[in-house]
Amino acid sequence: MDPFFGIGKTHDRTVMKVFLSAFAVISSLGLASCGTGSQSSSSSGSYGRDYWGHRPGPKGFRTVILDAGHGGKDSGAVSAHNGVKEKDIALDMVKRIKSELPGYRVILMRSNDEFIDLDERVRLANKHGDAVLLSVHFNSGPSYIRGPETYYWRVDSHGLATRLQDAMEQVSPIEQSNREKVRRRLRLTRNPEIPCVLLECGYLSNVSEAQLANDARYRARMASAIAQAIKLQSAVGDAGTGSLPPPLNAPPSRPTDSPTS
Ligand SMILES: [Zn+2]
Repeated sequence: MDPFFGIGKTHDRTVMKVFLSAFAVISSLGLASCGTGSQSSSSSGSYGRDYWGHRPGPKGFRTVILDAGHGGKDSGAVSAHNGVKEKDIALDMVKRIKSELPGYRVILMRSNDEFIDLDERVRLANKHGDAVLLSVHFNSGPSYIRGPETYYWRVDSHGLATRLQDAMEQVSPIEQSNREKVRRRLRLTRNPEIPCVLLECGYLSNVSEAQLANDARYRARMASAIAQAIKLQSAVGDAGTGSLPPPLNAPPSRPTDSPTS
């Protein structure tokens, strides 16, 4: 909407509505306060948003934001073995994970084949306070590497990342050269103000894993394992996931920093 629309007496009421709704959006994004300290939670949720994420992982959350990687003009990885596209099976995966989470409020970042910029995904995630974000991808690399990998950056995402990697490995065992759980600053692991992880559910560049990824029964098993890990994190928090990593004060990730596959 043109912000200068409606300046004039006959539109005063419209203008006021626009201002009020704009303020509501700004408030919901946490932009109304200038706090960027480690304890700058600003949410109606019980856990809330936090700029740095230097805190234990979440417990008791009931909102899960699922982000299917890529979409629209961005296909992500395309398997040279069977032509399966990352954007298509990532979308299939988030729908399956959602169906495994009855009783939770599950928000899909995209529910069809559309392109959403990464910064826009961060902005949408930050509208929610008492929530976790999972970005779901499939990987590509040297053909000998296979197995799932989990990326996280924030301290409050370590426990969830640990659970998710363990759960995915139960479905698709890792092999040598797989990076497993990786602390990496990406736009979807650093920039959201809620616990967030990026999952790579397997390598489309590996011939056997590309076949598995293209199998709906396999994706159902992987989705179920991921959902169980989310439920366990909500039930017990970080219990049993080991010691927390050190806090790191790194700036937000920018588009030029590091590409994701
Ligand atoms: Zn991807």
